[in-house]
Amino acid sequence: MPFPLRIVVVGGGTAGWMAAAAIASVFGPAHRQIRLIESSEIGIVGVGEATLPHIRFFNRRIGIDERELMAKTQATFKLGIEFCDWARIGDSYIHPFGAYGSRLAGMPFHQFWLRQREAGATTDIGEYSLPIVASRANRFALPAEDPADVMSTFGYAFQFDASLYAAYLRSFSEARGVQRTDGKIVDVKLRPGDGWVESVKLESGEEVSGDLFIDCSGFRGLLIEQALKTGYDEWTHWLPCNRAMAVPCENSGPLTPYTRATAREAGWQWRIPLQHRMGNGYVYSSNFISDDEAASKLLARLEGKALADPRPLRFVTGRRRQTWNRNVVAVGLAGGFLEPLESTSIYLIQIAITTLIDYLTERPTDDQGRFDPRIVAAFNRWIEMEYDRVRDFLILHYHATERDDTPLWNYCRTMRIPDSLAHKMELFRERGRVVTYKDGLFLEPSWLAVYFGQRVMPRSHEPGADAVDAATVGAQLARMRERIQMALTRMPVHEDFLRAYCPATPAPIVGTAR
Ligand SMILES: Cc1cc2nc3c(=O)[nH]c(=O)nc-3n(C[C@H](O)[C@H](O)[C@H](O)COP(=O)(O)OP(=O)(O)OC[C@H]3O[C@@H](n4cnc5c(N)ncnc54)[C@H](O)[C@@H]3O)c2cc1C
Repeated sequence: MPFPLRIVVVGGGTAGWMAAAAIASVFGPAHRQIRLIESSEIGIVGVGEATLPHIRFFNRRIGIDERELMAKTQATFKLGIEFCDWARIGDSYIHPFGAYGSRLAGMPFHQFWLRQREAGATTDIGEYSLPIVASRANRFALPAEDPADVMSTFGYAFQFDASLYAAYLRSFSEARGVQRTDGKIVDVKLRPGDGWVESVKLESGEEVSGDLFIDCSGFRGLLIEQALKTGYDEWTHWLPCNRAMAVPCENSGPLTPYTRATAREAGWQWRIPLQHRMGNGYVYSSNFISDDEAASKLLARLEGKALADPRPLRFVTGRRRQTWNRNVVAVGLAGGFLEPLESTSIYLIQIAITTLIDYLTERPTDDQGRFDPRIVAAFNRWIEMEYDRVRDFLILHYHATERDDTPLWNYCRTMRIPDSLAHKMELFRERGRVVTYKDGLFLEPSWLAVYFGQRVMPRSHEPGADAVDAATVGAQLARMRERIQMALTRMPVHEDFLRAYCPATPAPIVGTAR
């Protein structure tokens, strides 16, 4: 492969700028030349506002200052997601970014909680999770490093303004030599013989050639699909939502350190508090509600005054058959889309970029600059695995419900689910065993949160949990709850913490009466 490697990033949404920023910061200018093409006429989706804790590793790897990022994107902290009305109307549970209790006698904590519950105890498992208790009390502090400290038992993510995030990454990337062009691509030239992308042609007539093309052109998949016809696996039969209405509104209450997802008649509604406004959206299935009705339901349920008209979005849940095809790697919506219930899209962007960077570091080409097909296959397998894991987790939320009040919930409750998920659920139902894996989302506490929150209760606990006598278990569990309550008294109110740590610049906090 000739160096510097000529990389063309097509698209300047979250995916394009994350890719440009990361590659520019990891590889010095001697190793790469990065050109990013975006069309301000087409614009960006700009609704990805809730993240997962993994984004902090991304920031650290590429040298982004967290406080500066938060201040410039009107960000708030996120300790988890609250799910309302999912298993039954009136239910509420939080999927926390952190652990429940701690292991006892080498056994997972929840086995002892199950055992106590079978004996008649009524404590909620959320009482053993500091991020849940802190979310309910609207408090936040940074986690501690010392593993013996209960303050080390959680992580956090951000809720930010997606347009400001793209703008922030743009200035970060341009400062590291990324060359940006505002222009519309009207043609893609393939190399005769092997069909690799040779260049893209802009409306202005300019042709931009490259060695590697990163397709971040959004749902249209300009290179990966329109030019290379890679194909798409659709999962709408398991995840039937295919539309969204998004609208920001004024803040009208405390800035909660969590995202809320409330199940609705034909889908669910998100609520993402930022420093300057609240992001809202109704994700729904067009089989069960019209666009107009979804928009009016969303507007009627806002907590504050709407700041714009509802914006419609359409999507098809699934993933591209190959994320890396020839010399094109699809990142972001061009690579696939899993609906935003667990805020996984930015995570999937991050994984695609960091995995690509790892492979590029290994110089995956022959003397003619061809990418080694074994490297490409390994990359594609990895991304497939990440998508499949998230897919099963999302389906669990829809399927494990007792709701029978609308056609959507009747469909989801009774649909056939993937064997991989059916197997996981059966093992959990038996004795509370969580199928864990080394790579990919999600870890055990996440599965526990959703199983219990969706009322999937095991028939019994593991016999190993009977090895400790009941009095000791009772005392240990009480001590865990006490430690969490003590830690909570030392955590400031979320909004006070934000004001001290990363007050938004330049706009002041508005409409956030506590
Ligand atoms: C309803 C909804 C809610 C979401 N919520 C979340 C969330 O809470 N958390 C999360 O992690 N993710 C969320 N996502 C996903 C998130 O929004 C996307 O993953 C993220 O915005 C990345 O988008 P993108 O950069 O791939 O595409 P886009 O934002 O669509 O950007 C595409 C880019 O390609 C350019 N382009 C396209 N065609 C051309 C052309 N011909 N010439 C030149 N340029 C072109 C456009 O100008 C634009 O710059 C959500 C998505 C949806 C639909």
